[in-house]
Amino acid sequence: MQEVVSTVLRDHLKGERLRIALEVNTLVRRKMADLLIEKGFLEIPPVIFSSVTDPLNHPVYDPTFEYEGSRYSLTKSMIFHKQMIVQEIPKIFTFSPNVRLETPDKAETGRHLLEFTQLDLEMLNAPREESMKLAETLISETIREVRKKLPDRLRSLHRELPIPKTPFKVFKFTEAREKYGKDFEQKLSEIEKEPFWIIDIPLKEREFYDREKDDEKGILRDMDLIYPEGFNEAISGGEREFEIERIRERILAKGQTFEQFKWYLDYASGGMELSSGFGLGIERFTRFICGFKRIEEVHPFPKVPGKFCI
Ligand code: ASP
Ligand code: MG
Repeated sequence: MQEVVSTVLRDHLKGERLRIALEVNTLVRRKMADLLIEKGFLEIPPVIFSSVTDPLNHPVYDPTFEYEGSRYSLTKSMIFHKQMIVQEIPKIFTFSPNVRLETPDKAETGRHLLEFTQLDLEMLNAPREESMKLAETLISETIREVRKKLPDRLRSLHRELPIPKTPFKVFKFTEAREKYGKDFEQKLSEIEKEPFWIIDIPLKEREFYDREKDDEKGILRDMDLIYPEGFNEAISGGEREFEIERIRERILAKGQTFEQFKWYLDYASGGMELSSGFGLGIERFTRFICGFKRIEEVHPFPKVPGKFCI
């Protein structure tokens, strides 16, 4: 068993495809950081573990540990930390290592890793549309950069990678689901030729923290960006609930407890303003650029759901 693992690993680490993916990964991170810094963003260090983390809207195992009498989780996303720091520093980003111990069925998607990095950013007093515009710039300018700096790599992967035209197309969640059925994201991802948005995702399908529309109960001012060609989810984000009463209502509506979010709620009680932002999976973006079927091809030490990983 160990021998097989190490042979496969050696071949993977020696491979041309991994080398190209890492060149793309390096360029993607640098270009997006440069663009953000030019726009006045400050980079904050990642939070690896915390007493409060993203509850997510789907079941994952929760790795926790105790230290000096307190319980901590590994970071699933820095959503609450982003929202707190952005109150003081109005444009922040981080490359955040996240651990999400997904169920083994997630291996089939080709886009889930148990451990991954997301570009997680947040802007104060910015409506959702501002976050969408920023995401479109990051995606299209980064693709432009890869085409400019790594044309021979794209050629050797036989990857046609057009620069997406902005603004991206927008679909409303409920309308898209009515038209294309339960699996609408994957279907639309296969039909569409360019990245597109799904907006107004219902509270039932999302975590409590995205802001509910004032004029449409249960519908949030949030968005997902979907890659074309079947690559599916690229980004999720939204405007956040910031008023303590509304945050409490959303937590109860999701059947969660205040205890779980204690430090965040204490902070929010002191007053917060509106912010918006999103998380963009770095390995997913690299996979899309390279046109690889499976995400583990872009990571030297991929953690695949349901599999033994080193
Ligand atoms: N970081 C969040 C997540 O991982 C995305 C967001 O900013 O809404 O779901
Ligand atoms: Mg989320």
